Order: sequence, then C-alpha cells, then structure tokens
Amino acid sequence: RPLLEVSDLVKHYAVRGGIMRRQVGTVHAVDGVSFALGTGETLGLVGESGCGKSTVARTVLRLVEPTSGAIRLDGEDIARLGKTALRPYRRSMQIVFQDPFASLNPRMTAGDIVGEPLSVHGLATGAKKQERVAELFQQVGLRPDQMKNFPHQFSGGQRQRICIARALSLGPRLIVCDEPVSALDVSIQAQVINLLIDLQRKQNFSYLFIAHDLAVVAHISHRVAVMYLGRIVEIADKHALFANP
Ligand code: ADP
Ligand code: ADP
Repeated sequence: RPLLEVSDLVKHYAVRGGIMRRQVGTVHAVDGVSFALGTGETLGLVGESGCGKSTVARTVLRLVEPTSGAIRLDGEDIARLGKTALRPYRRSMQIVFQDPFASLNPRMTAGDIVGEPLSVHGLATGAKKQERVAELFQQVGLRPDQMKNFPHQFSGGQRQRICIARALSLGPRLIVCDEPVSALDVSIQAQVINLLIDLQRKQNFSYLFIAHDLAVVAHISHRVAVMYLGRIVEIADKHALFANP
C-alpha cells in the first residue's frame, strides 16, 4: 500500500472583490489530481507557474482545505478530518519552503527553532530536547555549537539546513519540498539536494518535491508528475520522462 494516495483532488479558490468582499469568481487551481507516493519514494512535481503545484502540496498537508477528493495517508482519508483528529497526521507530514529566511523566526536561536516542534508536541524538554536537537544539527551538517546562533548568523544554505532539521525533528513519513533550493546560490543548491537525498536513504521517508529546475527534479526524483492548468498531464518514471530520444 502506498504511503500517500491522492484521488481526484479538487481545489477551487473563491475570488472576492469590492468593498463587500463579494465572490466575483472561482479559480480552479486543482482540477482532479490523482497520484500515489510510496514509502521512501520521491515524486517530483513540475509545471509552469500557476499550474497548481503549491496548492496540491498544501492541500495534501491540509494547510489548505480541499474542495473535494480523497487524501489517504496509510489508507486513512484525512481530507475531511477535524483539527483534533488531524493532529497525529500533522506530525508525520512536514514542509520545507523556498525562502529559508522568511520561514525562520529572527528572534529565536537556531536550536530553539529546531526544537520547537518537540516542545509543541510535548515530546522532549530540557537536556533531552537539547540532545535531540544537537543530533538533528549533526544530521543536516551543522555543528551543535551553532545552536545558540540566530538565523541572520547563518548563510542561505545553512538556513535551509535549519529548516530541514526542524522538518526532521518529529520523524516524518512525508516531507513536502516547495522549491527548496530556488532561493539559494547555484553553487549551494547541489549540496542541499544531496543532503536531502542522503537523509532519505538513511530515514526512508517520502518526498513530494516541487521545483521548476528540471535538472534538480531529475536528479532527486524517482517519478515525475507534470501539471498543466490544475491537472496532471503526465506521470512517469524520471528515466522515461527525461530519456534522450
Ligand atoms: P504553482 O505552485 O504551480 O505556481 P499555485 O498552486 O500557487 O500554482 O496556484 C494555482 C492557481 O491558484 C493560480 O492561478 C493562483 O493564482 C491561484 N491561487 C493560489 N492561491 C490562491 C488563493 N489563496 N486565492 C485565490 N487564488 C489562489
Ligand atoms: P541518475 O539521475 O544519475 O540517473 P539515479 O537514477 O540512480 O541517478 O537516482 C538518483 C538518486 O535517487 C540516487 O541517489 C538513487 O540512489 C536514488 N534512487 C533512484 N531510484 C530509486 C528508487 N526506486 N528508490 C530509492 N532511491 C532511488
């Protein structure tokens, strides 16, 4: 059974306008998307800007409410679960965003940022938490003595490593990567991609990986889905999709 099975997912956004905020239209951002993702597998999601990639990713994580369709995680449909019932599933699905600076609180130390999910879910406190955070720092190639530093004291690539460490903290089954290296210097991109690949080999979680750079997608993905106007128009093994004719 696949880890994640998305069936006929639809997301329509209401477009509101005027001072009365009346609904003046509907955007069919995602219009019947289906795919499955195995454990330890990476599915790349590509397509032109505005085709619905982020909406698919955010709906799967239930950061955005689906209009209709099923989102099965380990066979359980989470598309319509309420907040409380959703909590254990939230723990197992994490996201890494494009801009690591925007998603880090500038007033928190890197150690507190990485350890925050452990506190929020009541999984570790005090010395035990510090130990776990130090271990996460090492897993992403940061030094434990950097835990006391603030986000501005890190380079762009290091900041993305902090975001990755935070995403790993709860032992996720699925990590959504939404353009995780697009904001980084080209020279740093390969290092971060190789870290992501290495972490997956050791920990066997799955990635839903959004990127516009086809070379990056081809390198990290096992299969690739191509979206166009809210639909998947092609989904195939990356070797089939990117094979030279
Ligand atoms: P992509 O990630 O492929 O660039 P998105 O999922 O961000 O695509 O957007 C898909 C479509 O949905 C676009 O037309 C976009 O303008 C629209 N959209 C995205 N978010 C919202 C929103 N919160 N309200 C209204 N329309 C939205
Ligand atoms: P290349 O892009 O050079 O052809 P591969 O196709 O071997 O490289 O895959 C790129 C990365 O993805 C490698 O690290 C490889 O180990 C890993 N990989 C490829 N296919 C799978 C798979 N089915 N399951 C798990 N990992 C895979």
